[in-house]
Formats: sequence, C-alpha cells, structure tokens
Amino acid sequence: MSYEAVCFFVFFVFPSPKGHLPHPIPHILNPESQTTKPPVPTPPVTKKLKSHLGMPYIITEPCIGVKDKSCMTVCPVDCIYEGDDMLYIHPDECIDCGLCEPECPVTAIFVDTDVPPNWKSYIEKNRIEGHRLSENK
Ligand code: SF4
Ligand code: SF4
Repeated sequence: MSYEAVCFFVFFVFPSPKGHLPHPIPHILNPESQTTKPPVPTPPVTKKLKSHLGMPYIITEPCIGVKDKSCMTVCPVDCIYEGDDMLYIHPDECIDCGLCEPECPVTAIFVDTDVPPNWKSYIEKNRIEGHRLSENK
C-alpha cells in the first residue's frame, strides 16, 4: 500500500474515537476546531474589590424631605436605605447600574465624580449611613 493510501485510511476512514481527526490535521480540516472559543468569564465584582473602586452613586441634599423612594423601587440589588431625613446608597453594595439616577424627581442622585461642590460632604455621609443602616436592618 502506498504512503498516500495509508494516510487516507488513517486520517479519513478511521477517525479517532472522539470523532476528531488525528493531529496535526484537526486544526486544518476539523470544523469544530475552527470555532471561536468562548470568552473567558470575568470574575464578579466582589464587595471587597468594590470597596477599592469607590462609591459611584450618591444621594444628596434634595432628597431631604422628599423620600418618595422612586430610586429604591428600581434598584436591582436593594442597596438604597432609608434614613431619618433622606435615603442613602451603600457604597459596597451598589453595582453602578445607574437605574436610580433618572428616577429621582428632584435630581438628588449623582455619580460621585459629578456631585456638585457644595454637596461633596454627602459622599462620606452616604458611606457612613449606608453601612450603619444596612447593619441595623
Ligand atoms: S446605581 Fe444601581 S445599584 Fe447603585 S443605587 Fe442606583 S439603582 Fe442601585
Ligand atoms: S428618588 Fe430621589 S427624592 Fe426620591 S427617595 Fe430617591 S433620592 Fe430621594
């Protein structure tokens, strides 16, 4: 039997038990090996990691006295807590989805970098009250 005939039987007539062609042929002829590999999943943002990334969304002064809870209704992770005078976002639980921001009727919610200068103190206030209220719930 010629060399070409032997190769024909090895590669095409008697495929491997898994149905794949033997090496090095698979990478050239086997359509399965040509498919795009699924993307490597990225690890979820853990609370520990999140705490190093800061606090993206902040509730500020206009919420005082309003407290209509529109933001709470849409928050997918229930990280908004009701305080005595206003609501607060827990910094480590917020997933930065941004759903709450357009719901606020008095524009009290900002990304931390967009908080107006006169309300910057609310960044720390959300952090303190968010932690306190979540521990007491
Ligand atoms: S940004 Fe998303 S997760 Fe964070 S407080 Fe708003 S709705 Fe909740
Ligand atoms: S939607 Fe705005 S005003 Fe209403 S509770 Fe939330 S932050 Fe306060």
